[in-house]
Amino acid sequence: MSTISLHDLTFAETEQRLADDGLARHHARALWRALHRQSELDLAARRDLSPPLRRWLDAHLHQDVTLDAPTINAKIDSSDERTRKLLLRLDDGQEIETVVMGYPGRFTACLSTQAGCAMGCVFCATGQMGFVRHLRPGEIVAQVLHAQRLLHSMGEPGLRNLVLMGMGEPLHNYDAVMKALGIITDDRGVNLGPAKISVSTVGVVPGILRMAEEQCPYNLAVSLHAATDEERSALVPSNRRWPLADLMAACRTYGEKTGRRIFFGWTLIEGRNDSPAHARRVAELLQGLDAHVNLIPLNPTQGYSGRTTGEAVVEEFQSILQDAGFPSTIRQRRGIDVAAGCGQLRASKAKRQSEALE
Ligand code: SF4
Repeated sequence: MSTISLHDLTFAETEQRLADDGLARHHARALWRALHRQSELDLAARRDLSPPLRRWLDAHLHQDVTLDAPTINAKIDSSDERTRKLLLRLDDGQEIETVVMGYPGRFTACLSTQAGCAMGCVFCATGQMGFVRHLRPGEIVAQVLHAQRLLHSMGEPGLRNLVLMGMGEPLHNYDAVMKALGIITDDRGVNLGPAKISVSTVGVVPGILRMAEEQCPYNLAVSLHAATDEERSALVPSNRRWPLADLMAACRTYGEKTGRRIFFGWTLIEGRNDSPAHARRVAELLQGLDAHVNLIPLNPTQGYSGRTTGEAVVEEFQSILQDAGFPSTIRQRRGIDVAAGCGQLRASKAKRQSEALE
């Protein structure tokens, strides 16, 4: 018997699934409210659901219908208790990370979209792991619901922002990511505004062009990190497949078709990409684009020897961009003490396990 996860289904698909078993479609609203608004995992215990819906759940749940309920394998709070990192175990044993970051007046979740990643960025713990598999939509949605449960247990109202910047390359898993975001933004469920969501890519050109073509309502964040092909390919191997000229052309097409600002990420690595000449080259690359640059001091990883750029150098880099007319933000290094860079918690757990075996 094939099973489907209720978290994989859009509202229309949920209505159809219930209708296939003779339930009036309005029961889908109650089911979605419990699943997505109230982040409920114990549907069998919900006495407030209608008798027909409870009978349907009794007959199908854990038979041909299931839920995405990854278990928390590890949870680490930062010393300021504003950043919490969850290591989630999926049904097949794969582990992914979800980070909940607190800022004044708001919380943001950073989601994973794949187990591992095929892009191989040298400074990234996930890239050092290699690709394992794509996440299904329900496995992406479940991370948001986990974050909501966590915040509600803390007496907080819930998430305000989402960034798809955790483990994996979102545009390499395009269909599942876009379906998940459609579910998360549906006003019958979690109801997060599309403008509050950022999809990050290391530069998967076909995905950027598809977002432009489909007028995706989410923010696009492109991780640049280097401004020449030689330097970029050394940091981001996928640059050999989609070199800078193609990437910037896709960004221009995206800007023209959507009229949207693009957010460019620049991980600053001491002595490698943080000089004034690098900053000037970034400004040249971005000429004519409505661009905002996020400057991200490197999160040290176990497998990469690069060091974090000092504050004064970061500020000089920023002032060059500013003089060239590009706004930028120096990203706070949230949760450095909880290994918040993507893949770091999973990697540090794997390292502890292998040390224990030695
Ligand atoms: S930085 Fe992102 S795209 Fe690059 S290897 Fe890590 S997870 Fe993949």
